[in-house]
Amino acid sequence: MNPQCARCGKIVYPTEKVSCLDKNWHKGCFHCEVCKMTLNMKNYKGYDKKPYCNAHYPKTSFTIVADTPENLRLRQQSELQSQIPKPGCVL
Ligand SMILES: [Zn+2]
Ligand SMILES: [Zn+2]
Repeated sequence: MNPQCARCGKIVYPTEKVSCLDKNWHKGCFHCEVCKMTLNMKNYKGYDKKPYCNAHYPKTSFTIVADTPENLRLRQQSELQSQIPKPGCVL
């Protein structure tokens, strides 16, 4: 019994199978979620059981901001600055 492709749902035969992220994929179906660049076992990045290329791998470190005193100070500063109209935005 051959497994189904995690992307297209069709049967994956051993010759075209890529087994990654606890799933099976056609070689052609194993591509980046964002840019569709075809990936392989060596260059893929797995996130949330989905393959991504190096450029589009969600970098969670950007969303996790620790509330250190320094970060709080920086945030207050940027909030103050955002109240000032930016000259570049005037059309
Ligand atoms: Zn497929
Ligand atoms: Zn990509």
